Amino acid sequence: MLEVGDLLNEIVQTRGERAVFRCIRKTPGISRVELCKQTELTSAAVTQIVKRFMAAGLVREIPAKNAIVGNIGRTRIGLAPMDTAYFSLGVVVRRHDIQVGLVEPSGKVAQAWRLVAPTIERLASTVDDVIRAAGDIPIVAVGVGLPTFAVPWAAASDITAMIASRFACPVYSFHNGSYAALAEEWFMEDGEPDRFFYVFIGSGIGGASVLRAGYEPPVITCIEAGHVGIDPHGEQCFCGNRGCVELMASPASLEAYYHINIDLGIEGVKGLSENVKKVVGESLAYGLVSITNVLNIHYVVLGGYSPEVLDYLYGDTLRQTLTGYRNPFGHPLTIVTSRLGDLAGVQGAALGAQDQIGTVIDRNAVLSYW
Ligand SMILES: [Zn+2]
Repeated sequence: MLEVGDLLNEIVQTRGERAVFRCIRKTPGISRVELCKQTELTSAAVTQIVKRFMAAGLVREIPAKNAIVGNIGRTRIGLAPMDTAYFSLGVVVRRHDIQVGLVEPSGKVAQAWRLVAPTIERLASTVDDVIRAAGDIPIVAVGVGLPTFAVPWAAASDITAMIASRFACPVYSFHNGSYAALAEEWFMEDGEPDRFFYVFIGSGIGGASVLRAGYEPPVITCIEAGHVGIDPHGEQCFCGNRGCVELMASPASLEAYYHINIDLGIEGVKGLSENVKKVVGESLAYGLVSITNVLNIHYVVLGGYSPEVLDYLYGDTLRQTLTGYRNPFGHPLTIVTSRLGDLAGVQGAALGAQDQIGTVIDRNAVLSYW
């Protein structure tokens, strides 16, 4: 009998199979008719593919999403992934902690771990706990999100080497912010903007531009949002530029100058004065205006820390500063807070690994950038 990892490779192989499987995972409850529309496959092809997926235990039938009950006399049938068929694993490496999550095929987090003050040894034992918790359910892909700066507690290459050594399945690595942007896109509905800029506020400020591509994985471009200069007479930044947004508005700068602790959530940041919040929010606003003008994008999602903390730190000032603003193309800049919690990076890493996004971590020649 085939292991599920092999089964996935065996069964989800052609462009059509990949498209159908991705649509079912992304939109549990999707009908066969809707699948045909989204993938541009014929009804016969979709029926055939779904039949094989169901026989392999990857897909099940549930009541259709948005079914109008009583409309045609019987419940319309939708399709959903079998969430117990396999897991993918998301790992997010941050300055002071690590998040790890077992993620179901539909993108839901089944179980998550947070390791504070990590070391390689403690991370190894957490990874072993995760593998034990997965039990009989196989882990078919692993995504490791890394920040763009070094973490103080280990070299990124040692972290990725240790993780890669624990798994037989493919292991990928990518920027934290880009993985979180992937998760944001995964949970968007049809009809939401085709292009958006995702600002990832972790310790620093990063981000990604996202071009949605229907049933295909989105096109993601990592953007160093924090290193847009907004004050030529400002402080020198470690990146070589002066007056970077990151120096003015990032949680790491706020911690250094105002002794707040963002890791404590809303309680840890409540001491900031309105004046400081104004400078911080305005700095982020001007940085976002510069970036979105260059990219000609007018929809921004703020993510990273919990939506509550982000809204408290930046929300009011961003809204006030941008009221009445129009970009050179005449569009207002819409800014929304992420709909996902602070496990977005974990979800994105796991989903991205399934879509094979990121750099493959080769066990023999472990990546050594960062
Ligand atoms: Zn900089």
